[in-house]
Amino acid sequence: MQKGKVSVNTENIFPIIKKFLYTDHEIFLRELISNAVDASNKLRVLAAKGEKTGKTDDLKITISLDKEAKTLTISDKGIGMTAEEIDKYINQIAFSGAEEFVEKFKDDQESANIIGHFGLGFYSAFMVADKVEIITKSYQKDTDAAHWVCEGTTDFKITKGKRKKRGTDIVLHINEDSAEFLEDAKINGLLNKYCKFLPIEIEFDEKVINNTNPLWKKNPSDLTDEDYIKFYEELYPFAEKPLFWIHLNVDYPFNLTGVLYFPKIKKDIDPNRNKIQLYSNQVFVTDNVEDIVPEYLMLLHGVIDSPDIPLNVSRSALQADGNVKKITGHISKKVADKLNELYKKDAKDFEDKWGSINLFVKYGMISDEKFYDRTKKICLMKDVDGKHTVLDQYVEDIRPNQTDKNDTTIALYASNLDDQYSFVQKAKDKGYNVLLMDEVIDNHFVSNIEQKLDKVMLKRVDADTIDKLIDKDEQSESVLSEDEVTKLKEAFENHVDGETFQVQTVTLSPNDDFITLTRSEWERRMSEMGNMGGMAMFGSMPEKYSLSVNSNHSLSKRVLEAKEDEQKELMHNALDLAKLAQNLLKGKELSEFIKRQEARL
Ligand code: ADP
Repeated sequence: MQKGKVSVNTENIFPIIKKFLYTDHEIFLRELISNAVDASNKLRVLAAKGEKTGKTDDLKITISLDKEAKTLTISDKGIGMTAEEIDKYINQIAFSGAEEFVEKFKDDQESANIIGHFGLGFYSAFMVADKVEIITKSYQKDTDAAHWVCEGTTDFKITKGKRKKRGTDIVLHINEDSAEFLEDAKINGLLNKYCKFLPIEIEFDEKVINNTNPLWKKNPSDLTDEDYIKFYEELYPFAEKPLFWIHLNVDYPFNLTGVLYFPKIKKDIDPNRNKIQLYSNQVFVTDNVEDIVPEYLMLLHGVIDSPDIPLNVSRSALQADGNVKKITGHISKKVADKLNELYKKDAKDFEDKWGSINLFVKYGMISDEKFYDRTKKICLMKDVDGKHTVLDQYVEDIRPNQTDKNDTTIALYASNLDDQYSFVQKAKDKGYNVLLMDEVIDNHFVSNIEQKLDKVMLKRVDADTIDKLIDKDEQSESVLSEDEVTKLKEAFENHVDGETFQVQTVTLSPNDDFITLTRSEWERRMSEMGNMGGMAMFGSMPEKYSLSVNSNHSLSKRVLEAKEDEQKELMHNALDLAKLAQNLLKGKELSEFIKRQEARL
């Protein structure tokens, strides 16, 4: 029998491990099962090299609970350990690893984020157990079995074991605070979370709980669409079918496998964004991949698996990590390539899917220059009649008829077809094309493409009167004299609140509206940004409108000729109608307006 002291300086390492890892102590199971998987894989490698290992066709790992004895046991048929190896790998090396870990992170604010990722390894068992036994026998011939016991202090005991067969049992005597880990349901839940795709069979309650050869590890050419859809359903049981997917498979300069799915996106974004799972060699690590996957691709679903993503570092170090940067870049390129491929293959089908994917394509184009360059040729502009045109082509198409006197091409858009109905009609009557920009993101997207494209501006259809929307400097005749126009303007100025309405006269056709209320593109964008919380100072800005009086309309003459009371009533009603057209007539004003109209019936 050998007795000894674990070589470590910090006497109180166990209390620290326990306290420190309190929030995430469930990871002990993942750590111990990972060790069992490693031990089994090592045996396979040795066997493949021709070493005498005995049979390697049944390497099943078994998890068992003994409620009476209050133990949880993880048994593998892997390479096992000799007493010397326990001394070397468990007593010395593993322990120094644990100590280093505690030293490194005990003052770290971000530690909570790291814990779940960190492989504290074997010693994490002491988060839930006050006594741990290792019963093991090495695969090597003529070696003795060994039995190691440690009761959560730096003292351990190692004796000759009775085990006959190769492999290792790790027996955890679960402590009182951790009684939950003696419940079947709890263990089942954890196995499902962390071990669902481990490469060695894991058995619990006489059932194998994992799929040892998950889809992302297979060769894409061996897979059918059904296989991908089936796997998606396995990951997200109640989700709608995905639109399409990308199989990631890289060996160099980093190792990455995985499958990313494009979900069907409804109008509103799913607030539950943790849809991509990160694995490291098939071991589940986290479903919070914020720092590995570019923000705009967080809408995707699926799995990425890479042993090259460092898991034991802080978030800031992760973001700065060279491999992570390359992985991020690779994923983003693959996604862009896939979109281009889909468009080339079947443009019509791509158009049909555009409603679901435009949100993250646009999001990507806004936030990543490279992604913009890679997707600008497949970025579709959809007009109010449902016709799709690629961005560059669209600008070419509208240039002849929609370029203003400053040589700027003006693309027009509507954000709500009902609200802006009359403005859309007027633009169409002029032969202009009107885009439909009704996504949450379009606001930002509009400014983004303006920055990227030379001499192109976007204006919402109700940003100005139709003659000014695309100002081609066309002069129209005025029916009224200059003097009359001034009087008309003054009459309105005296009638309305100058803070909100800026009065101007315009010479439109007599058939055009008498009064039009518009809000300049710039003004509206600023205030919308403010409302989205981007810029508080603009949010508090009062809404300002241009009130354009069509001096060529027959009502202009009537206003000028009317007596004071009648003039007031005329202007009042005309203004209410203009407000009605812009959805601005509300509450008391609307109710009074209705009463006045009823009185006339
Ligand atoms: P790590 O797995 O990161 O090396 P651990 O503390 O988990 O650190 O384990 C230390 C070492 O103990 C392992 O590298 C391995 O050599 C040995 N070991 C742990 N568990 C087993 C096992 N079930 N079978 C064989 N060897 C094991």
